[in-house]
Amino acid sequence: MSYKLFIPGPIAVSQKTLQAMAQGMIGHRSPDFVALYNAIQPDLQALFYTKDPVYLSTSSAWGVMEGAIRNVVKKKVLNCMNGAFSDKWYDVSLRCGKQATALKAEWRQPVAPEAVRRELATGAYDAVTIIHNETSCGCMSDINALMTVVREFPEVISIIDTVSSFSVVPIKKDELGIDVLITGSQKALAMPPGLALVSVSKRTLERAATMADRGYYFDFVEFQKNHEAGMTPSTPCIALIYALKSKLEDIKAEGIEARYARHARLNKTVRDHITAKGFTMFPKAGFGAVSLNCFANNLGYDLSALNKTLKSKHHLVIDGGYGKLKGKTFRISNMGDETDETIASMLASFDAALAECPKAVAA
Ligand SMILES: *Cc1c(COP(=O)(O)O)cnc(C)c1O
Repeated sequence: MSYKLFIPGPIAVSQKTLQAMAQGMIGHRSPDFVALYNAIQPDLQALFYTKDPVYLSTSSAWGVMEGAIRNVVKKKVLNCMNGAFSDKWYDVSLRCGKQATALKAEWRQPVAPEAVRRELATGAYDAVTIIHNETSCGCMSDINALMTVVREFPEVISIIDTVSSFSVVPIKKDELGIDVLITGSQKALAMPPGLALVSVSKRTLERAATMADRGYYFDFVEFQKNHEAGMTPSTPCIALIYALKSKLEDIKAEGIEARYARHARLNKTVRDHITAKGFTMFPKAGFGAVSLNCFANNLGYDLSALNKTLKSKHHLVIDGGYGKLKGKTFRISNMGDETDETIASMLASFDAALAECPKAVAA
């Protein structure tokens, strides 16, 4: 089962990160844990561009995405939808028993700031959810423009998913006034899945404290109380925190600006290469993700045959389309630890596999 993932999460994990996980356990109430927790906070806060704490949740991102709804939505939430993850967030709001509005855009379009303003201006809302980078269709919304709009409505708590854009492009939490900034371990941070990271504003904590039914496991107030003691509310996945410490060292060694530049460069390398073959971009021009590319399968290749060849002969896997886009698009990740060399080698494999790939439908 040895193949490399170029799907947009989970992605390949380096030997260094894997080895960091293979350390002895420490008690999660021990001074050793407190030292570990406190040691990584400054680096996490720098990556989040925030003075607020960064909480560590032993869950996938969805845990905190659902938790955020339960912590802050008292009146009604506006769920901005333009892909599979953001569509599901609306469903999650309803399942949490919340009043919610689905603000729908086509899968390939960014979230439109004007549409958000129109809805929020009704005064019906006290929270909004936005997915910065809709991984399902490779579309990145303009978070600066969106937050400019959201800031016009002081009652509205902003909940922003940056799961597949965090540490790929700068997302300046405090400067943008983002209240709840969420990411996960298995995307650009190139760690195994299972850890979510979230930083919340003071006013979010104030709102949470007034919520009677916010639950326990994802209670922001509980996270804050434990944070002040250098701990998490319950036993965390300590191995993943070792991995996180190792990854933060990697990011520091590379330099964050160099990291952003590398992601942008590799993203363009893939985009230029694949579009030169005649494939078109799926997301609206100018709003393509930087951590991955989502291409339309406009040439009609049999994507499952393509992936089969990639896996068996080239030991790598790309994505053949998410949900309703299966077979219609394909996605290639360039996030995490990829380099010019690994991307070039992946593209050479892609070319070879494509050359022997049948067409699924008449093109
Ligand atoms: C992967 C992803 C998620 C889901 O993360 P889980 O870790 O599976 O909960 C949510 N939002 C976006 C944008 C993602 O890319």
